Amino acid sequence: MDWVKAKIRNIPDFPKPGILFKDITPLIKCPETFRRITDALHGHYHDEKIDGIVAIESRGFIFGSALAYAMGLPFHIVRKPGKLPPETIDISYDLEYGTDSLEIHTTQIEAGERVLIIDDLLATGGTVKATKELIGKLRGEVAACAFVIELAFLGGRKRLGPTPVFSLAIYEDE
Ligand code: AMP
Repeated sequence: MDWVKAKIRNIPDFPKPGILFKDITPLIKCPETFRRITDALHGHYHDEKIDGIVAIESRGFIFGSALAYAMGLPFHIVRKPGKLPPETIDISYDLEYGTDSLEIHTTQIEAGERVLIIDDLLATGGTVKATKELIGKLRGEVAACAFVIELAFLGGRKRLGPTPVFSLAIYEDE
């Protein structure tokens, strides 16, 4: 969607050389665009059976909380290590160099709860794949994954298997 792309700022070589960082701060600075994004996500999912929203730290929280408010659904947060007080479960996943991990409270998601995962951006899909596994450990079900931005040339969608993916601004190349 061009109205989304128009508010995304490209920052070359951040946070390291070779990365074209997609900056969403101009987008959330514009109330009309932020509202349209929330409304577009709400419109896409309002007929689906979704019991809760799971957002990934940290920019996922921005869009996830607005959507949870709009849809009147429970809001769950997946955080970087050491940010949530116990009891948590965690999952480790591979990065380009090394590994990282994510955590969620053990009592956060009910068994059988159908959740929508939301993050600002889908790149290689490693972060969301790990989040899916974390939800699976709690016996939740991932109904769908939503993103404001998708870097389609990195193939993240394929790593998410049969889970439906919806993105508002899709980049086929850099
Ligand atoms: P990935 O696990 O490779 O799909 O990376 C997704 C996560 O990394 C998201 O939480 C994004 O916020 C962040 N990310 C990855 N690439 C970019 C990029 N080019 N611009 C902004 N954020 C990015």
